[in-house]
Amino acid sequence: MEGKEKCAVFGIYSNKPVFDLIYYGLYSMQHRGQESAGIATYTDKIEIHKAEGLVSEAFKGVFLEGCVGMGHVRYSTTGESGMGNSQPLIINYAGGSFAVGHNGNLINSLELRMQMKRRGSTFATTTDTEIIAKLIAQEHLKEGDFVKGIKQAMNQLRGSYSLVILKDKKIIAVRDPWALKPLIIGRSDNSIIVASESCALDAVGAKIVRDVKAGEIIVIDKNIKSDSVISERLAHCMFEYVYFARPDSIIDGLPVYEIRKKLGEILARDAPVDADIVVAVPASGITAAIGYARASNIPYGEGLMKNRYFGRTFILPEQIDREKGVRIKLNPIKSEISGKKLVLIDDSIVRGTTAKRIVKLLRDFGAAQVHVRITCPPLKEPCFYGIDMQTHGEFIAKENDIEEIRKQIGADSIRYNSIDSLIEAIGLPENNLCLACLNGNYPIKDKQLKLDV
Ligand code: SF4
Repeated sequence: MEGKEKCAVFGIYSNKPVFDLIYYGLYSMQHRGQESAGIATYTDKIEIHKAEGLVSEAFKGVFLEGCVGMGHVRYSTTGESGMGNSQPLIINYAGGSFAVGHNGNLINSLELRMQMKRRGSTFATTTDTEIIAKLIAQEHLKEGDFVKGIKQAMNQLRGSYSLVILKDKKIIAVRDPWALKPLIIGRSDNSIIVASESCALDAVGAKIVRDVKAGEIIVIDKNIKSDSVISERLAHCMFEYVYFARPDSIIDGLPVYEIRKKLGEILARDAPVDADIVVAVPASGITAAIGYARASNIPYGEGLMKNRYFGRTFILPEQIDREKGVRIKLNPIKSEISGKKLVLIDDSIVRGTTAKRIVKLLRDFGAAQVHVRITCPPLKEPCFYGIDMQTHGEFIAKENDIEEIRKQIGADSIRYNSIDSLIEAIGLPENNLCLACLNGNYPIKDKQLKLDV
């Protein structure tokens, strides 16, 4: 997969200091953002530390007191990267102060920013998150109640947002009315937790309570209170299941690992190959490759070794880095592939440049044949909801048929799962999923303001 993912949020209310638990939670969700990390806790005021880089680097020698807190890891999509835009973001206003972390992307942020500027708002960052936070603050002052303020703000926000807010010794979790991005509640003996992924609950020894519902606002202190705005329709991002989330996470009740394995099994059923070995593009293709191998009775082998200290190829900001990245990141194991017919399993193809390099690498190391099998149906349309796939021009599947893609990446054959197969593997009704980057059917029926496409 060549793509950018974005952020993760984590919030915790406890009767013990929470800094370490937030750190572990963020560490377990590092795959969702590697650009910067931040933690805010509450004592008698909000304490915050944010820094660039990985969680392990960002909090060296840092400790924040407090039994309530939140954290965020970031990969930028809206707004430039850099510390000015890092999160949590703190807002000070006549109603007090709060910290907010956001996973998602608004499609009406330009419109909202202009409207708010006309009404006298000023902005210190270029992020959507500041728009959301300032809107909540404004509506709080109008309504005289923080949760009512959030509801009023939600009625104006269009796009994806899973939010964690730290306000006056409370954690507030908010999920957009389409439930595009994941957000889950957990509980341990001492704590109530919200996190982007359930793997973060596992990391802090908490059990899943349930997912935050579409349009829901959860206020957590000693108890969990729920409020909500109306959900227009569900639109869970299919890409969380296919690529973004950790395979050990459970999202909206569905185990990601089982879905990825099923995607591989369906590929083996629908696109069989006479081959000697099933090889995954690590790490995101591994679970599906296991599924393919089991269903086809072709042995699975580690044909490609990943440098485990290397960030995802997609994470690198510049094309030049991406070019170098593939070769540094992956190295074939010659004894496993030389002279053999390979089935190469990956999760998705955007531009095709990475797939082309990997196929060449495998041939250079002696593979007799390389048959590419892709678990995600062809990506053709841009994502406006926080996954940075850029514009139409970047999608190899937009302009080219399967045979042309095969030629361009130099494979002996290539097949993708169909959209129906993807829906079968996930097991949710089609109208509960966002499939817009596959079929152009955007679940939020507004003019798409974010990209010039
Ligand atoms: S367009 Fe694609 S990547 Fe974006 S939210 Fe929808 S399914 Fe996810």
